[in-house]
Amino acid sequence: MLQYGDHGGGVGYLVGQENRGLEYMFIMMNAARFGVGVQGIAIAERAYQKAVGFARERVQSRPVDGSLPRAAPIIHHPDVRRMLMTMRALTEGCRAMATVAAAAFDAGHHHPDAEVRRQNQAFYEFMVPLVKGYSTEMSLEVTSAAVQVHGGMGFIEETGVAQYYRDAKILTIYEGTTAIQANDLVGRKTSRDGGQTARAIAAQIEDTEADLNNNGSADALAVARRLQLARLAFLEVVAFVADQTRASPNAVFAGSVPYLMLAGNLMAGWQLARAWLVAQEQLAKGVDEAFMRAKLVTARFYADHLLTRAPGLRDAILDGADSVTGLALESF
Ligand SMILES: Cc1cc2nc3c(=O)[nH]c(=O)nc-3n(C[C@H](O)[C@H](O)[C@H](O)COP(=O)(O)OP(=O)(O)OC[C@H]3O[C@@H](n4cnc5c(N)ncnc54)[C@H](O)[C@@H]3O)c2cc1C
Repeated sequence: MLQYGDHGGGVGYLVGQENRGLEYMFIMMNAARFGVGVQGIAIAERAYQKAVGFARERVQSRPVDGSLPRAAPIIHHPDVRRMLMTMRALTEGCRAMATVAAAAFDAGHHHPDAEVRRQNQAFYEFMVPLVKGYSTEMSLEVTSAAVQVHGGMGFIEETGVAQYYRDAKILTIYEGTTAIQANDLVGRKTSRDGGQTARAIAAQIEDTEADLNNNGSADALAVARRLQLARLAFLEVVAFVADQTRASPNAVFAGSVPYLMLAGNLMAGWQLARAWLVAQEQLAKGVDEAFMRAKLVTARFYADHLLTRAPGLRDAILDGADSVTGLALESF
C-alpha cells in the first residue's frame, strides 16, 4: 500500500486506486444524501402526526356548513383539512419516492442481468438529488404547516412543533445545500447523458398514465390528466437543460432549483399515482378498506393540489431566467 509522509510525520493512506477518489466520494455522498432525505420524511411524518392530534382537540369557531351549533375542533374547518392533506400527501409521496429509489439501488447491485443493473443504477443516481433536495424542502413546508395548524401555540416552544421546523431547516443545508443538489441534477444527472435517463423515467410515467386511463373511473382519469401535464412540463425542462447547459449556463442554472422541485414533485406524485392503482386493486379484494381509501384520496389530493405546481415551475424555468439575473450586482 502506498504511504505518504508529511513534515509533521502524519501518514496518509491511499484508499482504492489513484485518481478515482471523487468517484468513491460520491458513493459515500449518495448514501449520506439519501439518508438526509429520509430524515426530512421522518420529521415531516412526526410534524403531521402532532398537527393531527392538535387539530382534533383544539376547539375554535363554528363549522362554515352549520353542521354543529357550537365551536368545533379545528379539524372540521376546510382550510385545516387542506393543510393536513398537504402535509400527508407530501410526506407519503416523498416516502414512496425514497422507497422506490432504495429498491432501484438494491436492483442496481444485485439483479442478475447486467443491463437491468445499469438501468436501475442510473435511475437511483437520478433520484438521489431529488430524495435529498425535494424531501428536505418538503419537510420545511410540512413543519411550517404544522406550526400553522397549531396557531399561536405553534409559535411558542411548549408544544415542540416549532422545534421540528427549526430541525428541518438544517436538512436543506448539510450534505450539500438544495442548490448543490440541483447542480448535480442539471450537470451529472441530466446534461451529461443528454437527458436520456430523465426521458426513460418519463416513459415509465406515461405507462402509469395509460394504466390509470384504462381504469377509466373519474378519479383515475383526473389523476392521469394531472400526471400527464406534470410529465410534459418535466420533458420540456429536460430538453431545455440538455440543450442549453453548455450554451447558456446562467439561464439553465437560474432555474436549477425550480427544476429540482418540478422533478421531485413529479416523481413523488407518480409514486402516489401508482399507489392509487394498487389501492384500487386491494380495495376490490376487500383488503384493509380504511387504509386503501385513504391512499386513494391522498393520491387524488396530490394530483389536484401538488402536481398542479409543475406547469408553473416549467414556466418560471423556461421564461424566467432573465429576471433572475437582470438586476445589476450593485443594485442589490
Ligand atoms: C449542524 C451542521 C452540521 C454539519 N455537519 C457536517 C459534517 O458532519 N461533515 C461535514 O463535512 N460538514 C458538515 N456540515 C457542513 C455542511 O455540509 C455545509 O455547511 C453545507 O454543505 C453548506 O456549505 P457552506 O456552509 O460552505 O455554505 P456555502 O457553500 O457558502 O453556501 C452558501 C449559499 O450559497 C449557495 N451556493 C454555494 N455554492 C453554490 C453554487 N455553486 N451554485 C449555487 N449556489 C451555491 C448555497 O446553496 C447556499 O445557499 C455541517 C453543517 C451544519 C450547520
